[in-house]
Amino acid sequence: MGRVGFGVAVGCAVLTCAIAAALVGKRARSRRRWWRAVEVVREFEEGCDTPVGRLRQVVDAMAVEMHAGLASDGGSKLKMLLTFVDALPDGNEEGIYYALDLGGTNFRVLRVQLGGKVSRILNHQVESQPVPQELMNGTSENLFDFIALTLKDFVERENDGFQQKKDDGRALGFTFSFPIRQISVSSGALIKWTKGFSIEDAVGQDVAHLLQEAITKRGLTMQVAVLVNDTVGTLALGHYYDQDTVAAVIIGTGTNACYVERVDAIIKCQGLYTNSGVMVVNMEWGNFWSSHLPRTSYDIALDDESPNPNDQGFEKMISGMYLGEIARTVLLRVAHESDIFGDATQNLSVPFSLSTPLMAAMHEDNSPDLSQVRGILEENLQMSDTSLKARKLIVRVCDIVTRRAARLVAAGIVGILKKIGRDGSGGGNSGKTKSRPRRTVIAIEGGLYVSYSIFREYLNEALVEILGEDVAQNVILRVSEDGSGNGAALLAAAYSSDR
Ligand code: ADP
Ligand code: MG
Repeated sequence: MGRVGFGVAVGCAVLTCAIAAALVGKRARSRRRWWRAVEVVREFEEGCDTPVGRLRQVVDAMAVEMHAGLASDGGSKLKMLLTFVDALPDGNEEGIYYALDLGGTNFRVLRVQLGGKVSRILNHQVESQPVPQELMNGTSENLFDFIALTLKDFVERENDGFQQKKDDGRALGFTFSFPIRQISVSSGALIKWTKGFSIEDAVGQDVAHLLQEAITKRGLTMQVAVLVNDTVGTLALGHYYDQDTVAAVIIGTGTNACYVERVDAIIKCQGLYTNSGVMVVNMEWGNFWSSHLPRTSYDIALDDESPNPNDQGFEKMISGMYLGEIARTVLLRVAHESDIFGDATQNLSVPFSLSTPLMAAMHEDNSPDLSQVRGILEENLQMSDTSLKARKLIVRVCDIVTRRAARLVAAGIVGILKKIGRDGSGGGNSGKTKSRPRRTVIAIEGGLYVSYSIFREYLNEALVEILGEDVAQNVILRVSEDGSGNGAALLAAAYSSDR
């Protein structure tokens, strides 16, 4: 071999080594980045951990905060609002009743015909429409006039299927799902607007009175018989079908709960008297907080950037408005710290670009190659060419977010059961003696619970873990479909004279 040949051979060997080294280096870097991605998810998972011991701490904290909120106004982040509902529908109600449901993006009017014990709800008619954006930020007069007009239009189109007697009075249940301080079952002052509404002149005013005035002005003869929020409506409908129903939970865009409390446990209102000795209490549990809640840096960032920092802490870990957003911020961090999603991650940096229903659809993808996840990423986030490994990691993030949310709801429910002495521990209102578990029904409503089966499974699993099989089998979660409107009509029936 000549000098030249030797030189070429050495050159080739050096080049081969360099290429091999570069390849090894690239693979090592890529592996490092993959491990970084896994590490980010693993850290998040650790932060979200909800072993049963921690859930029990949340249960205890919920029961303690309930006591504190019942002891004095401002005694807890739980408002524990009195509803003055001391009797729930039992199935004997008869006649035609109306309801208005205002509490989110949609506004609904309903008419139900009740046939008493045997025939129950004979007929039922609903109309729904979005609340015009300008009315959400206008004056209370305009908003209530719009509502009254919609109602009048609905009532005047009396329906064939309904048999109204000439002398029947018309009673209305008003579901108003914003925090109100009630002074009777049919009146209450608005504490504050939420969910994008801001009509300053209504704050502090009796919203039932505002509605009644608008109705009368429009020449309609109708009495606002009850003013409730959506949880109370849900409880009413649940109780109408099953009298072992003692609480209601909503898990939709937001989350809240109410339950039946003994009047003598409502310390902040001494001398409060009802015939039944009980009253429904609206917990406003979305605002629950405890240091035992598993909070991560992502939750803190979400709260900081929200329009209501330090508010609705429980809701921000649980409800449909936020779950997709939590998952998005975790995935964005993964994208920043690794390149496993490729370059096209701009859309992932847009707040709320991953909605909870989309997150749920990815989570529930059972196909072996996660093709639904791929489709959702491509269509909604413009993230194409993701590897199967990356898609699996995404599903894991969805799972962590949802599992924590569902388990926290379970802890919240057991907190209520503990407070009313139905968690099998023998504490709560029932005194210290351990009693036989009683059949206990919780009415549930809300898109997140109803449409997300893995969420439901995790919730049920956690209930059994916390309560044990024996007690858990007596606790029944029952969907109370459209309870927020129907329940208000039932309460209007229960509270108006011609029951
Ligand atoms: P609202 O709470 O506004 O009264 P719903 O009870 O219908 O309305 O709940 C709607 C919420 O439920 C949505 O904001 C969404 O977050 C959640 N949701 C709806 N469908 C699904 C789904 N398939 N999977 C998971 N969450 C869902
Ligand atoms: Mg609702």
